[in-house]
Amino acid sequence: MSVTIANLGFPRIGPNRELKFALESFWGGRSSEAELKETAASLRRETWLKQKNLGIDYIPSNDFSFYDHVLDTTVMLGAVPERYGFKGGKVDLATYFAMARGTTSAENSVTAMEMTKWFDTNYHYMVPELVKGQKFSLASTKALDLYNEAKAAGVETRPVVLGPVTWLSLAKGRDVDPFDYLDDVLAIYTEVLTSLAKAGAKWVQIDEPAFVLDLNDKQRAAFKKAYDVLSKTGVSLMLTTYFGRVAENIDLLTSLPVAGIHVDLIRGSDDYDALLTKVRPDTVLSLGVIDGRNIWRADLDALVDWIEPLAEKRDLVLAPSCSLLHVPVDLKAEKKIDPEITQWLAFAQQKLEELAVLKTALTKGRNEVAEELAASTKAAKNRRSSPRIHNEAVAKRLAAVTPDMAKRQSPYPVRAAAQQAKLNLPLYPTTTIGSFPQTSEVRQARAKNRRGELDNAGYTQFLREQTAATICWQEEIGLDVLVHGEFERNDMVQYFGEQLDGFAFTNNGWVQSYGSRCVRPPILFGDVTRPKAMTVDWWSFSQQQSEKPVKGMLTGPVTILNWSFVRNDQPRSVSCRQLALAIRDEVVDLEAAGAKIIQIDEAALREGLPLRRAEWQTYLDWAVESFRLTASGVRDDTQIHSHMCYSEFNDILPSIAAMDADALSIETARSQMELLQAFASYQYPNQIGPGVYDIHSPRIPSVEEMVNLLRLARKYLPADRLWVNPDCGLKTRRWEEVKPSLLAMVAAAKEMRAEE
Ligand code: GLN
Ligand code: ZN
Repeated sequence: MSVTIANLGFPRIGPNRELKFALESFWGGRSSEAELKETAASLRRETWLKQKNLGIDYIPSNDFSFYDHVLDTTVMLGAVPERYGFKGGKVDLATYFAMARGTTSAENSVTAMEMTKWFDTNYHYMVPELVKGQKFSLASTKALDLYNEAKAAGVETRPVVLGPVTWLSLAKGRDVDPFDYLDDVLAIYTEVLTSLAKAGAKWVQIDEPAFVLDLNDKQRAAFKKAYDVLSKTGVSLMLTTYFGRVAENIDLLTSLPVAGIHVDLIRGSDDYDALLTKVRPDTVLSLGVIDGRNIWRADLDALVDWIEPLAEKRDLVLAPSCSLLHVPVDLKAEKKIDPEITQWLAFAQQKLEELAVLKTALTKGRNEVAEELAASTKAAKNRRSSPRIHNEAVAKRLAAVTPDMAKRQSPYPVRAAAQQAKLNLPLYPTTTIGSFPQTSEVRQARAKNRRGELDNAGYTQFLREQTAATICWQEEIGLDVLVHGEFERNDMVQYFGEQLDGFAFTNNGWVQSYGSRCVRPPILFGDVTRPKAMTVDWWSFSQQQSEKPVKGMLTGPVTILNWSFVRNDQPRSVSCRQLALAIRDEVVDLEAAGAKIIQIDEAALREGLPLRRAEWQTYLDWAVESFRLTASGVRDDTQIHSHMCYSEFNDILPSIAAMDADALSIETARSQMELLQAFASYQYPNQIGPGVYDIHSPRIPSVEEMVNLLRLARKYLPADRLWVNPDCGLKTRRWEEVKPSLLAMVAAAKEMRAEE
C-alpha cells in the first residue's frame, strides 16, 4: 500500500512578510503593479520549489492570494457587488483591491466588503454579498493561471479551490437566500475544474470546511448536488474538511462521489473510527495528522506507531490538518526563543519536514530516519516533564480554587450603591475604552527603544509625558472617568504575555490576520505565573496626575488565551483558569494601590465560541468562570468594568450577564443602539456603555447625533445604568479626530443629564 504526503496550503506572506511590504508599497503608490506581481510570483515560485525539494507529493497551487482566498473565490464567480462598477470580463487588480479595502478618492469613494473571522481562526475573510438577480460569470482564471505557472516552473501541483457549499454558507444574501444561486455557482465551478483538467491537473483540492459545522437541510442537499455535478468535470477531487469534527455529517461526506476525502485528525480525532468503516475502500483517504493550527512539534515515532497498521491496509495521504496559513513560516528565523522551548516547536516549514520524515519511516522503515525520530521523541519527552512547563505551585493553587472565589461579595445592587457612594459620578458618566492615538511619535519611540537607540529611562520619560498630557487633556474636557492611554503597550495581549511566566515570543512568527496585516501571537507554553505586578506603576503614575478616577486597564484571561498559540497538553479551560488567577492578582494589586475602577477587557470572548452549537455552553461556562475568577478578588466598592468589541450578543446574553461586570462597554455606534433592545428584553441587570461614536470612520460625530443615540439607548435602559463612551479603538485614530469627537461626546452627556 502506498503512503504519500500532501500540503494543503502554505503561508502567503513570505518568510519575511515580503508580500505585506509589496502590497503596502503598491497601495501607497510607491511601486507599480508589475513590481507587486513580480514579488508575488517569486514568492510562489520559491514556495513551490521548496515543497518539491522536501518531497511533498501533492503541492498546492492557488493557495496564494493577494488579499484573501474567499475574496478570490467571489471574484472567480464574478459576484462583484454593484458599487464596484464591474462591467464583465475579468476583474482587474484595482477592482479587487477596492472590494478588499474600499477606495477613498474624492470623486470615487466606495466602502470595502465586510470582513469577518474565518471559522474559529484569527484570519479574516471578505464576506460575499449576494443580491436579488445576482449575476455570475467566470471573472478570474487565477486557479488555472497559477497551475500553469507552477508547471512552467517545473512543479506539478494540486490546485486548491474553496468549495461552493462553504462559499455559499459564508455568503450574506440581501433579501435572497445564497443557496438559490447554487446552480449558477456550480456552472462556474464546472468551467474552472474542466479548464484545470484540460490543462493536465489530475487532482484538485476542494476545501469544504463547512463540513465541520452544524448543517441544515439546504446545505446538505447542496453538498449532494454540488458533488454530483463537480465529480464529472474530469479531475479527481480531494474533498477537504478541517477545523473540527465531521461528526454526524460523516454519512453525507462519505456518500459523495469524490475520489478522495481529507479530514482533520487533530481537532477531529474522534471521527477516526467512523471514518475507517465508512470511507469506501476505493476513496483515497487523506489524514490531517500534523497540527496546522498550532505551533507544536509532533511526536513522530508515536505517529508512525499509530499510522503503520492502517497504512498496511489502505493507500493513505498524510497531510497537515488544514492549510498552514495559520502558523508562522519558519522556526529557523527565530533568534530569541530559548533552545529548550524551540525544540518543542514546528512552524510551516518544519511541519512539512515532519511529513517527509513520516513518509520515509512508513515507506522505507524507521531506520532510514532514526535520527529525526529520536530527536522528535526526545523533544516530546522533554516537553512532558520540563520544569519550565510544569509548576507545582500553580497546580496546587488551581486545585484550591473555591466557587466563592468566582463570586463578588455582594450582588450587583449592593455593590452599585457602595461604588456610587465612593465615586459620586453624575448620571451618564463619560469615559473611553482605554487607548488613545498611537501616533507615529509613540510608535517610533517604541521602535527606537527596542533597537537600543533610546534607553529605558528616556523611553519611560517619553511615555510619562504622553500619559500625563493625555490625562490632563481628559480632565480639561470634562471626562468623568479617565484612562492612561495605553501608550506603553505594543499590543493588548503581548504586553501582558511578556510580563507573565509561561509565555514565549517570536521575533518573526508572523501570521496573516487579514490582507497585509499580520500578527505575532504569543506562545503560551507553560503554567502561568505573574512574577510581579504588571500595570500598577503606570496606573499609580497616572492617578497622581488627576483627582478624577483613572481606570486600571487589564486584558482578560479569555482574550489572552484566544489570541495566543496555546498548549495542547492540557485543556484550554485549564490554561484559561491559570491566566485568570494571574490577572486576578493584578486586579487585587490595583485595588490595593487605590484604583477605584478596574476594566478587564474581554475583546475576544465571543470569537472563542466553538463551531458547533452543542459545544457553546461548555465553553461559555469556563470562559465566564475565568472572567469572574479574575474579577472577584476585590471589595464591593471597587467597580469592575469589562469591554467587548463586537455587536452580536443576542445568543449569548445569559453568559454576558453571568460575567457580572459592574459596567460593560460594547460597540453599538454603527448599529443605532439596536443591540440594546436585546439587553433590555433580557433585563440585563448591570450598567452598560454603548458606544456612541463610531471610531472606525474618520468622521467627527456631532453632539446632536450622539444625543440622538443616547436617547435611543435611554428608551431601553434607565439613566443610572448608562455610560457614555465611544466604540473601542481610539488608538487607531488621530488626535485631530479624537479631540473634537470626545468634546462633542461630553457635551452630549451634559445634554442628556439636563433631560433627566
Ligand atoms: N482597551 C483597549 C483599547 O481601548 C481595548 C481594545 C479592544 O477591545 N480591542 O484599545
Ligand atoms: Zn474593543
